[in-house]
Amino acid sequence: MSDTSSRTAADAARHATAAATAAAASGVAGATADDAPVLHLNAVSRHYLQGDERLDILNGADLAVWPGQSVALIAPSGSGKSTLLHIAGLLERPDGGEVFVAGKATSALGDGSRTRLRRTALGFVYQFHHLLPEFSALENVMLPQMVRGLKRTEAEARASELLSYLGLKDRTGHRPGELSGGEQQRVAIARAVANAPRVLLADEPTGNLDPRTSERVFTALSELVRESRLATVVATHNMDLAARMDRRVTLREGKVAELE
Ligand code: ADP
Ligand code: MG
Repeated sequence: MSDTSSRTAADAARHATAAATAAAASGVAGATADDAPVLHLNAVSRHYLQGDERLDILNGADLAVWPGQSVALIAPSGSGKSTLLHIAGLLERPDGGEVFVAGKATSALGDGSRTRLRRTALGFVYQFHHLLPEFSALENVMLPQMVRGLKRTEAEARASELLSYLGLKDRTGHRPGELSGGEQQRVAIARAVANAPRVLLADEPTGNLDPRTSERVFTALSELVRESRLATVVATHNMDLAARMDRRVTLREGKVAELE
């Protein structure tokens, strides 16, 4: 057995054990060891140094999310929500612990492999849309697909379909500056799911929107998640929206705790 395959086998065994524990702990209906989580943070830690002081932002955080499951992450500002999402999204590396994406351990992967996995398996929506201002809504949704190697016509068809689905059929030619906040955020959602990820991570996606607009964006997001069996983790301060998700968790002393 080569080094690579034995490492993979060890990863799989570790993941299966941790997944079974996580399934039991989360009390998720139907979640068993066979039904593996698509995203799994196992004993993740992350600290920052502030002068002489060490801030343990994440300290043994465990979170397993199953396909089709929506999780609201509700915790005060500064408690580590963005840190957790960035680590789950392979945008940052943890100091300790392991992140499994679609069953694959990511800590030993090089930057190139992490980037490829991020592009194919993960979608990210930020509080601010981060759309490219000089491109149309359609082009913004086409770009990640073309980066992945899709032909222009295929990327355009999918972008157009997604934008229509999100209620933006008449806005596809507009640039971000010509769209409202809610429209911009729906384009950002379309872009995040353009490559059909397994997991969608959203960091206060409605944080900048008025209540009505945020309701609209959230409904669009929920429908998309349900229809595509995406797993999603959404950091939010909006308790009404969180109440409509499958699960609610918070961060307590650097660990993920279930709410309710
Ligand atoms: P939240 O998203 O819940 O508001 P964050 O994950 O952004 O929390 O931040 C958690 C804590 O970690 C905050 O106190 C923040 O100041 C600190 N922090 C975040 N990023 C860094 C960094 N790069 N360097 C130092 N401290 C950081
Ligand atoms: Mg944050």
